[in-house]
Amino acid sequence: MQSIPEFINAALPAVRGLMPYEPGKPIDALQRELGISDIIKLASNESPVGPAPGVQRVLESGFDDLSLYPDGSGHVLKDALSTHLDVTPAHITLGNGSNDLLNLVAQAFLGPGRNAVMSAHAFAIYTLATRAVGAEARVVPALPADSEQPYGHDLPAMAKHIDRDTAVVFIANPNNPTGTWIDADGLASFLEAVPPHVIVVLDEAYFEYVTESGYPDGCRLLAQHENLLVTRTFSKAYGLAALRVGYGISHPALADLLNRLRQPFNVNSLALAAAHVALSDDAHLAKAVAVNRSGLRQLAEGLAALGLDQIPSVGNFITFRVPDAQWMYRNLLAAGIIVRPVGGYGLPESLRVSVGLPEHNDRFLDTMGRLLTS
Ligand SMILES: *Cc1c(COP(=O)(O)O)cnc(C)c1O
Repeated sequence: MQSIPEFINAALPAVRGLMPYEPGKPIDALQRELGISDIIKLASNESPVGPAPGVQRVLESGFDDLSLYPDGSGHVLKDALSTHLDVTPAHITLGNGSNDLLNLVAQAFLGPGRNAVMSAHAFAIYTLATRAVGAEARVVPALPADSEQPYGHDLPAMAKHIDRDTAVVFIANPNNPTGTWIDADGLASFLEAVPPHVIVVLDEAYFEYVTESGYPDGCRLLAQHENLLVTRTFSKAYGLAALRVGYGISHPALADLLNRLRQPFNVNSLALAAAHVALSDDAHLAKAVAVNRSGLRQLAEGLAALGLDQIPSVGNFITFRVPDAQWMYRNLLAAGIIVRPVGGYGLPESLRVSVGLPEHNDRFLDTMGRLLTS
C-alpha cells in the first residue's frame, strides 16, 4: 500500500472524518467483476420508464452549442417551473441534482458549533453535507418498527431536539430508504413547532410518485413558513438522473442567498434543455407514475408472499428484511440483479429494491424465491 502523503493531515478534520457515500453498483462494474451480462439494476431508484421521448431530440440539437457556457440563470427552465409550481422565478434555485441544494444549505447555514437535526434512517446526504462543513449531525431515533410508519421520521421528537445552535432540519417526504411519509397534519404541527431562525429542508425527491391522499405539497406551505426550503428533482420520476438537475423552492430571500453561493454554471445546458422538455410532458410523467404504482404493488405482494417483512413504501422502492442481507445481496449480484444494501442507513438486516418494469420485478422476485429456498 502507498503511504499517505503528509498534506492529507492538513485537510480540515471534518473532511478527513467523512464516510464516503455508497452509490448503487453500476451495471458496467458488475459486468467487469463477474463477466456476466443481462444485468438489471434495481439499486438507485432510477426510472425504469426512462425520460420523455422529446428529451433525446433536444439533447441531439444541444450538440451544436457545446462550446458555449450554459445560461447561468437557467431562465427558460425557471420560467417553466414557476408556471408549473405557481411560484415566481425568484422563489427557485436550480441545482446540479437536488443534492446540490442540500450542500448549498449546509454551506450557507451550518458550520462548527452549529447542528442540523435529522431522523435516523434518513437520506445519507443529510449527515454527509452537515459533517462536511464541520457541523454536528443530530440524528433523532425513528418511529418504532411496530408503529404505523415503521422507521419513519418522529417529528415531535425531532422538534424537541432543536436547540439554540440548530440551524437546519432535514425532512424527507417520503424518506429514502424507508419509503415512509408524513401527512399534511403532521407536517403542519411540526412546522408550527420549529423556531423561525431554523431552516426546514423538505426533501420531496419522490413527490411526483406519491398518490396518497393527505400527502402535503410543500410548495403550498411556503406562504405560511418563510423558513421552508422544498427540494425536488428531475432524477427520479422524470427519469433524468444522469443529467443532474434538481431545484429548490423557497422564500426569495433564501433563494437569493443560495443563488449567490452556487457555482454560476451549476446546471449544464443539456440538462437545462432536457428538464424543460421533461417538465412539459404530462402524459409521460403519468405513465411513469402508473408503472410505479403497479410495480410497487407487485413487489409488495411478492415480498409478502415470500414471507419477508417490508416497510410500507410510497416511493419507487421497498426496503425489506432478509435472514442474511449480505449473503442475499451477493447472490442476487451473481444472478445479475443489483439491489442496495442499507447497512449504512442503520438497517443492516435489510435490502432496498427499486421498482423496475414488470418483467424486472418478476425476475427479482423469482430469484429471491429460489435463493430463499436454496
Ligand atoms: C435520490 C434522492 C435525492 C436526490 O437526488 P438528485 O439526483 O441529486 O436530485 C434527494 N433526496 C432523496 C431522499 C433521494 O432519494
